[in-house]
Amino acid sequence: MTSWTELKQSQPVAVKMLNNSITRQRIAHAYLFHGPPGTGKQEASLLFAKRYFCEELHDTSAESCNACPTCKRIESGNHPDLHWIEPEGQSIKKEQIEYLQKEFTYTGLESNKKVYVVREAEKMTINAANRLLKFLEEPSRETVAILITEHISQMLDTIVSRCQRIQFHTLSNQKLYEQLLNQGLPESTANMFASMKLDVQQSLELNEDDWFAEARKIVIQLMDKVMNPSEDGYLYLHQMYLKHFQGREQLDFGLDLLLIWFQDLVSLHLDKNESIVLTDQMDRLEQFHYVVSLSEAKTLIYEILNTKRKLAQNVHPTLAMEYLILQLQR
Ligand SMILES: [Zn+2]
Repeated sequence: MTSWTELKQSQPVAVKMLNNSITRQRIAHAYLFHGPPGTGKQEASLLFAKRYFCEELHDTSAESCNACPTCKRIESGNHPDLHWIEPEGQSIKKEQIEYLQKEFTYTGLESNKKVYVVREAEKMTINAANRLLKFLEEPSRETVAILITEHISQMLDTIVSRCQRIQFHTLSNQKLYEQLLNQGLPESTANMFASMKLDVQQSLELNEDDWFAEARKIVIQLMDKVMNPSEDGYLYLHQMYLKHFQGREQLDFGLDLLLIWFQDLVSLHLDKNESIVLTDQMDRLEQFHYVVSLSEAKTLIYEILNTKRKLAQNVHPTLAMEYLILQLQR
């Protein structure tokens, strides 16, 4: 897991604010971590919780010891007083908050301290949000709520105004790229993750993930098929692609990979070689850019983005992908 020191490289302001509130013992009842995806909001929540519960406290440092049983339980995801709440279906309901509060009251507690982390907090119903805030205001409680959102404008004003707001910023591509290189990732992979705006942690995990390695290969093979008039991309979609990319999230990820290919083709057409992400695939890109003109590449980028939109709007994934492949096939 990252440390504050590591997270500080990408989120200096957020980390400084949180560290100050820890070391000066001015912990708020509720924090609102807001900012784009992949900016470390979740890592910050874990670091915060670990320091809050750690048994080996060092008053002057915001870091936890990482060695005591409590730190280890948090790291392995089973500390009884740290709870994660996320939407069930479309929203986070009052019952979900109430259920947790009951749990906290009845179960054998390690201490009086509790932390809730609410993911996608903008999806709390008004009742759920009010229930949560009421609970936080009970004076006997040492409860901290961390609300995480990518869409602060969709949050209720009454909630936002009662939280300490901590903003997380997108890391610039270049900065992220350098950090990934420092972590030992190959250039082309670092480039790819940076262009997908993942954070360091997500990138390192993906890099170790067999599913991702396979995903990358399958997208290359799909490109080989659709760029070749004598091959059948449609068949490949059904025989290989849809077997690997399952469910909307994975399909969306696959579309992000495809998008990079066509953005690179545009860069190549415009002689902007310094913008090319797939630097390990130059031979293919050279070859494909004779098959796809600049304006076609732009149209196909539009088609891919359109397919992402369709997935988000619950169009049947197979149909959306079939339609896309027919557009891509030369
Ligand atoms: Zn500890």
